[in-house]
Amino acid sequence: MRVTCALRTVSAGWQEDCTPPGMAYVITEGCTKDFLCVEACPADCIAPRQDDPKAEELDQLFVDPDNCIDCGACVPVCPTSSIMPLEDVPADMQAYVDKNAAYFRN
Ligand code: SF4
Ligand code: SF4
Repeated sequence: MRVTCALRTVSAGWQEDCTPPGMAYVITEGCTKDFLCVEACPADCIAPRQDDPKAEELDQLFVDPDNCIDCGACVPVCPTSSIMPLEDVPADMQAYVDKNAAYFRN
């Protein structure tokens, strides 16, 4: 399934339909910022980390779409089932796809 993002000015390499290159997993609603997924991720692609001052201001963590290796290790450790593969993100949560990617732009 292809995903359409709200913004057309996206990272280099994104496909014509705004599908982020390589994005495999997305953190959606319900994240409580317990950082369990950060510890489980072998690619170090979930941010911010607990010791990052930005963590306090944000309401959730995010997966870096360019570095996620699609291993799924973060899914079973999440107590709120907030992490899901891109293709499983339901229509009413599509905004989270861009929200995750947007954190890593700039
Ligand atoms: S699928 Fe693997 S690489 Fe991607 S965010 Fe989860 S643990 Fe990290
Ligand atoms: S494991 Fe789930 S609830 Fe915990 S920080 Fe990661 S996404 Fe949020």
